[in-house]
Amino acid sequence: MNIGILGLGLIGGSLGLDLRSQGHYVLGVSRRESTCHRAVALGCVDEASVDMNLLAVAEVVFICTPLAHIMPTFEQLIAHLPFTTVVTDVGSVKAPIVKEISPLWNNFIGGHPMAGRTDSGIEAAIPNLFFQKPYVLTPVATTPIRAITVVEEIVRQLGATIYNSSPEEHDRAVSWISHLPVMVSASLIAACISETEPNVLPLAQKLASTGFRDTSRVGGGNPELGVMMARYNRSYLLRSLLHYRHNLDEFINLIEQEDWVALQEKLELNQQERPRFTGQLPEL
Ligand code: NAP
Repeated sequence: MNIGILGLGLIGGSLGLDLRSQGHYVLGVSRRESTCHRAVALGCVDEASVDMNLLAVAEVVFICTPLAHIMPTFEQLIAHLPFTTVVTDVGSVKAPIVKEISPLWNNFIGGHPMAGRTDSGIEAAIPNLFFQKPYVLTPVATTPIRAITVVEEIVRQLGATIYNSSPEEHDRAVSWISHLPVMVSASLIAACISETEPNVLPLAQKLASTGFRDTSRVGGGNPELGVMMARYNRSYLLRSLLHYRHNLDEFINLIEQEDWVALQEKLELNQQERPRFTGQLPEL
């Protein structure tokens, strides 16, 4: 199948690597000439260009630009496509994109691979990024069955696990498990670097080990992606952040009051619940 990728960065490049290894012919379009050359050299695409007309022969196009560029690039893209082309995107927020694109392009289905890395750009692209990771598709009532099945088949070939949801439920769910963690992790780093004792901060930096690496990873990643999550999923993210602040206050109160029993109960509940999010539930 001829598959187009618009936006050759971490996600677009990684997608290209996997689709080529599945035998698809991958056409890539990106903003910069240099990125197009790198994408070909790295084996992410068969051909690449800054000219969207390259995608005219693609049967399916994945839009993989940063969130703010998805709508503007889509508007330019459709001038080059026959109406039969299936278009999907990989944006981390779905409701605003699906709401704007669906009325303009019948063969559109929103998508979001739940896979990423701290690095960005074409150099960060790796094979098997999506393998055994969730991949959410957000069809709406008007999405043609063909568009759904074509994209589902490609996603299955990536080895990803498909989940269907409405765009709004997707945005509400990812505000908890993806966008809130970015802000919490970013606040953690910001709080640590506010230490004023001159000997303590360098010591803390030297002592930081796996715990800090785990908890700071998503907050120390691509700033553009964090801003986009906040801009496009603002209301659900604010809601999650307010709940989080409430929980943080509860922890502060328990520690101030030295209520170790209640603190123990809360931590025990968290210990029980975490495997439901990480898929590591003990066998019954
Ligand atoms: P990225 O590494 O920064 O790559 C985006 C690429 O898009 C850039 O390399 C840039 O290439 C290209 N681009 C920018 N503006 C463009 C335009 N107007 N026309 C054509 N190409 C353009 O970002 P990413 O992490 O792959 O994220 C891409 C999308 O995936 C975002 O919508 C994000 O929400 C979603 N997503 C990201 C993650 C993650 O963890 N990173 C996970 C799931 C979904 P040039 O070098 O040519 O400028």
